Amino acid sequence: MAKLIDGKLLAEDVISTVKSETEKLVAATKVTPGIAVVIVGEDPASQVYVASKGRKAKECGFHSVQHTLAETATEQELLALIDELNNDPAIHGILVQLPLPKHIDESLVIQAINPDKDVDGFHYINVGKLGAGDAASAFVPCTPAGAMIMIERQHGHDLSGLTAVVIGRSNIVGKPMFNLLLSANATVTVAHSRTKNLEDLARSADILVAAVGRPQMVKGDWVKPGATVIDVGINRIPAPEKGEGKTRLVGDVDFDSAEKVAGAITPVPGGVGPMTIAMLMANTLVAACRAAKVPAPKF
Ligand code: NAD
Repeated sequence: MAKLIDGKLLAEDVISTVKSETEKLVAATKVTPGIAVVIVGEDPASQVYVASKGRKAKECGFHSVQHTLAETATEQELLALIDELNNDPAIHGILVQLPLPKHIDESLVIQAINPDKDVDGFHYINVGKLGAGDAASAFVPCTPAGAMIMIERQHGHDLSGLTAVVIGRSNIVGKPMFNLLLSANATVTVAHSRTKNLEDLARSADILVAAVGRPQMVKGDWVKPGATVIDVGINRIPAPEKGEGKTRLVGDVDFDSAEKVAGAITPVPGGVGPMTIAMLMANTLVAACRAAKVPAPKF
């Protein structure tokens, strides 16, 4: 049976460092980390995410503001808000909740964020830094950054000689995950929807990261015995056993069969999810430290 990688516990660890380092920062410089979360429209899932980010920020001792724009807000209105936040010295991190309504160009909005406040790590300056091997001065997207901490807890910071396979090539998860693993000296392959013989490839991995968005796709016989399996997927499936119309969350990995083969595995929920929000807080603290020109803690 695989060791369970407890994302909740690890996330609490990160949050407790964020809290204590925030206290130190405030005491030394009077700078309180500030985060602005921007949401456009009423998407219920996005509302839930944004509310929990706001709560976590307050828990960390941050100054936290939420800007809610109507579904009908124009691109110009949103860009004007970003400009205002870029110029607000009390705000160190700006997060625009995605997806945005169809009439707004998501890329245009993200590229308008000051890269020094881009705590999601989606601005091309930060994407480029990570790609060039300069993760230390970049903001790294929160989900792969959290997944990487989980991997480091199993294998240490140097993954020399280990083979990693990332399934999924999104800008948010797959590609930055590739760069982080490569920077740590792993030999990395990125698989995607056009990959042939995915099962064989997955079975070659000492570290297998699934970021696909397909419920329980990765079966136990895709997993190399003893491998570390990081399940990024969050999928809602019907759960008639819980009652009519009920649902439950599952990952991209078929947990029951994979845990029999893996050496270590993340659950869903309670795995990568809690780490994502913790890393958002960590990135915001780092942004505030950089603005205050004091050394930032490492996570
Ligand atoms: P995405 O849809 O942008 O990318 C999915 C990737 O999977 C694509 O690159 C695609 O090529 C690949 N893919 C699709 N079908 C495939 C197949 N049959 N075989 C191999 N590869 C295939 O998704 P994303 O934003 O990267 O998210 C992936 C999953 O992670 C989703 O379930 C999402 O909800 C979840 N997610 C979780 C967190 C978190 O906090 N835990 C954060 C972001 C995303």
